[in-house]
Amino acid sequence: MSPSKTVVIATNNAHKVSEIQSALDFPGWTFATLAEAGVVSDPVEDADSFEGNARIKAQAARAAAEAALGRAVAVLADDSGLAVDALGGAPGVYSSRYAGEDGNDAANNAKLLRELAGTAPEERTARFVCTLVFIDEDGTETVARGTVEGRIGEVERGSEGFGYDPLFLPDEFGGERTLAEVSQVQKNGISHRGNALRVLKNALESQE
Ligand code: IMP
Repeated sequence: MSPSKTVVIATNNAHKVSEIQSALDFPGWTFATLAEAGVVSDPVEDADSFEGNARIKAQAARAAAEAALGRAVAVLADDSGLAVDALGGAPGVYSSRYAGEDGNDAANNAKLLRELAGTAPEERTARFVCTLVFIDEDGTETVARGTVEGRIGEVERGSEGFGYDPLFLPDEFGGERTLAEVSQVQKNGISHRGNALRVLKNALESQE
């Protein structure tokens, strides 16, 4: 791992960028979103796993960045979603478009509650999963996965976070508060993305 580098993050989501930036606080590393790097990359994410989709995003961003900047850069992509045991792992890789419309959190949460209607609390176990794919300038790939275990509540609670957070009761915090009822800092400390970033940081440090 070279001491100083720019890492293009294959997202334009400002929240993810700041979380990634504070987690991977290696001296000399700077981060840029696709937009900040002047890179256009919006590949079709049609893999059947989070890792597959993260790899599609990382490889597409790497190729687009090299074409735009004229040099190889390091890239980092993530893919994440919710897996509910009683639904055979759904919504899984379809998490953002579970109700059909990409990114409609209210419709996705309503559909999840409908699908789980009549399912007892102890059967509503679920986990968020995040897979990160980092590709260094020289093409070396490092994959890191993080999860957070919990249950799906019966009603939406809280206004923090995004996506399925108001329905997700992580085992942490006594299993009583949703991810939308805790602060961003508390969420990052236990979340699938936070855990994946900690795994990635350790893996990159051990490559030094
Ligand atoms: P993406 O990896 O950002 O594309 O996320 C895919 C989808 O998974 C999101 O649109 C959300 O529906 C869901 N998701 C991923 N991470 C979270 C989270 O931290 N909280 C709530 N929902 C999430």
